[in-house]
Amino acid sequence: MVLTDATLSTPLPATERPWAPELRDSGMLWEIARALGGGPFHVIHPETFAENLDDLIGALAAERTPGRVYYGKKANKASAWLRECIRPGAGVDVASVPELAHALGNGLRGEAIGVTGAAKSDGLLWLSLRHRCLIAVDAADELERVARLAAELGETAEVLLRVLPPMATTSRFGFAPDDLAAAVRRCADLGGSVVLRGFSFHLDGYDPVPRARLAAHLVDLCRDARALGHPATKISIGGGVAVAYVAEEDWRRFEEGRHDGWFHSGRNPARTYPYHQAPTGAAMVTAILRHDTGGVPLADRLRDAGVELLLEPGRALVDGAGFSVFPVLGRKPSGDHLITTVAGLSMSLSEQWKGSEFLPDPVLVRAGGSPEAGEPVRTAVVGSSCMEYDVFTWRTVRLPAEPRPGDLLVYPNTAGYQMDKNESGFHQLPLPPKVVVGDGSWHVDTDYPVQEFR
Ligand SMILES: *Cc1c(COP(=O)(O)O)cnc(C)c1O
Repeated sequence: MVLTDATLSTPLPATERPWAPELRDSGMLWEIARALGGGPFHVIHPETFAENLDDLIGALAAERTPGRVYYGKKANKASAWLRECIRPGAGVDVASVPELAHALGNGLRGEAIGVTGAAKSDGLLWLSLRHRCLIAVDAADELERVARLAAELGETAEVLLRVLPPMATTSRFGFAPDDLAAAVRRCADLGGSVVLRGFSFHLDGYDPVPRARLAAHLVDLCRDARALGHPATKISIGGGVAVAYVAEEDWRRFEEGRHDGWFHSGRNPARTYPYHQAPTGAAMVTAILRHDTGGVPLADRLRDAGVELLLEPGRALVDGAGFSVFPVLGRKPSGDHLITTVAGLSMSLSEQWKGSEFLPDPVLVRAGGSPEAGEPVRTAVVGSSCMEYDVFTWRTVRLPAEPRPGDLLVYPNTAGYQMDKNESGFHQLPLPPKVVVGDGSWHVDTDYPVQEFR
C-alpha cells in the first residue's frame, strides 16, 4: 500500500491542552483501560473546564460587565463539571427535570440555575419554581402555565422572555415582536406570581456581531419594560461561544484540498463544524462586549443601563476537557486503504448522526511505546455494530502503523457534544464510562443524579 499525496488527506492534528497527550503517554491510560475490561471509555478533565469557566467569567470582569456564566449542560452529561459551577459568577443552564435534579444534587442553588428549552413540562416548571430558578419563557401559553403553577405554589416566578431573533425569523424558539409586547403587558397583569427579570435569545452560528447587536436591542427592551414598572435588569445571549479544534493553517489546507477521494466510499460530508475559527472562547466574549453598538461598546451600554449579561456556553466550557478511547479490534484492506474496526459504536462520536463528520485526526496509542516504527497506513474507522453506516471516520486518515488488537485509538477533544449526545444501548452494549482524571488519580464519573461527596 503506497501512500501518495493524491490519496492522502491533509492531516488535521487536534490542538490539545497539555494534560491530554501527557495522559496518553502515561501508564495511567493503560491502567484505566485494563480496569475497564476492554471496552471504550471517555476521559474527562474538570481542571480544564474550570480554566475555561474562569476565562469566560474573567472576560466579563475585564470589561467591567456584571453577569453570570451558566454551563449549557446538554453539551456533556458528566457530574464532574457541575462541582466547578458552584463558584461565584457561574451557574448551570438546564432543560429537563433530570438535568435540574442533577445540578441541584451537585450543589447548585436555584438562583444559579437557568431553565431554557422549548415548552417546558409542568413538572420542570414546578421544580424550577420551588427552587426560584430563572425561567426563560418561550411562548404565551407557557407564560400562563408558569403563572398558574406559581400562584398554586405561592411562589414568584423569576422570568426572562425569550426573543425570536430578527435574523432567524423561522426559528422555532422565542416570541415575535408583537407577541413579545403582549407578553410584557401580560406579566404586569399577572401581578405577584410573575416577575419579569429581562430577556434572552440563543443564536446559531459563531459570529460575535449579531450577538452584540441583538444584545443591544435587548437592553432597549429592558429599558422599555422598566418604564412599565418591571424590574428588568438581565439579558441572556445564550451559547454558541466558538471553539477551534485544529490550527488555522491545517484547516485552510484541508478545506482547499478536500475531495471525495479522501473519504471511504466517496462520502465527503456536505457540512462540517468550522474546525478552525476565530475569535474563540473568552476572546469571542470580549469581541461581543467591545463591539460598537450605535457609538458605544456593548459593555458600556450594559453598564449605563444597569443590565447584567448572562451567557450559556456549552461546547466552549468543555473545550479541551476530554477525549474518547476505543480499543482496536481488527483491520482489513478495502481498495487503496484499510478499514479499522474498534470496540464501541459511532454513537459515541455524535457528529456522524448529523450526516457530518468529526474531523480532528484520531491518535494511535500502542502499549509499551510509540507505533512510529511501523509503515504508515491510511484507514477509515468503523464501529463494532452490524450497521453499514456505523462509521466513526469515513475520511481515510493516516496512522503511523497498521493498527492491531491491543492498540487504542483516541479521538481528541470530544467532550463537547461528541461523547454522549447520541449514545444508546444498541446491541445491549453498556454505555462507555466517563473517567475523571486530575491530581494523578482517576475515578469513574456517575452521571445521575448525585455523586458521593468527595
Ligand atoms: C444548546 C444551547 C446552549 C449551548 O450552546 P453551545 O453552542 O454549546 O454553547 C445554550 N443555550 C441554549 C438555549 C441552548 O439551546
